[in-house]
Amino acid sequence: QPGSKKAEFCTQGSNRMMEFCKTHNISFEQCGKVIVATEESELAYLDVLNERGKANGLKVKKITQSELKEVEPYVSGIAALHVPEAGIVSYTKVAEKLVSILQNDGVEIVFNKKVGLITSEEKKCTVETQNQTFESNYVINCSGLYSDTLAKSAGVELEHRIIPFRGEYFELVEDRRYLVKNLIYPVPNLSFPFLGVHFTRMIDGSIHAGPNAVLSLKKEGYSKFSFDAIEAWQSLSYKGFWKLVGQHWQEGFRELHRSVS
Ligand SMILES: Cc1cc2nc3c(=O)[nH]c(=O)nc-3n(C[C@H](O)[C@H](O)[C@H](O)COP(=O)(O)OP(=O)(O)OC[C@H]3O[C@@H](n4cnc5c(N)ncnc54)[C@H](O)[C@@H]3O)c2cc1C
Repeated sequence: QPGSKKAEFCTQGSNRMMEFCKTHNISFEQCGKVIVATEESELAYLDVLNERGKANGLKVKKITQSELKEVEPYVSGIAALHVPEAGIVSYTKVAEKLVSILQNDGVEIVFNKKVGLITSEEKKCTVETQNQTFESNYVINCSGLYSDTLAKSAGVELEHRIIPFRGEYFELVEDRRYLVKNLIYPVPNLSFPFLGVHFTRMIDGSIHAGPNAVLSLKKEGYSKFSFDAIEAWQSLSYKGFWKLVGQHWQEGFRELHRSVS
């Protein structure tokens, strides 16, 4: 939404990311993306995205079917939104550069330590791993799918729980890469809380297609049969999970069927 922190951070973040890449010689491309409507029912929301993009200062443009063919010749759609500012970068390269800058500034980065517990007393936090304990005034919990579990261990009361969904991707074979020029997205389906299957050209030229969204019975479980009894129970015993199932069970089964077929 225009005026939100997310909108503010996205605009600033995008500009600062490009500056960072230029300064440190990391290749990036502002290749643009298209959000493609394939049905009449999607046109109204395409207009909403167009207005919102403009309000956020982007040079978005609603384009016709024939203009879309000029941008993405192999895409069939009835209209699209072109977002010229969208770009691609290898985030691994960005993260590696950040690590080396911090280390050169004397910051110690500790890798491969699983945090088991965070405790906090007045003005002092303790972070415990299997074989080491760290103390500090502040802790920033950015443990992804485990951030709820770790926050709970630190005594934070949470109403929400993270339910893991696995997104599966395909890669286009090399001699079909020409089918996708840049980034191709569907119009988001607002009744379904996922991103939608899209095509992404990576900075190395490969093209990814995905993701779907399949319920996973293990956090950070990336194979179809990943299972963890405690984590599965944490999902299945959460009433928010059953609310989601009540609203989206048909789509959930379709995703599961597509994943195993
Ligand atoms: C295939 C794919 C493509 C994506 N593409 C895009 C994209 O193009 N643009 C975009 O904006 N977003 C994209 N995303 C989403 C983006 O990657 C995530 O939103 C982002 O990585 C979340 O960052 P995070 O730091 O919150 O969590 P994470 O990246 O999940 O990092 C959390 C880290 O904490 C570690 N951790 C967890 N528990 C512990 C513990 N107890 N002790 C120590 N460490 C722990 C985890 O192992 C992990 O390394 C993509 C995601 C996927 C899967």
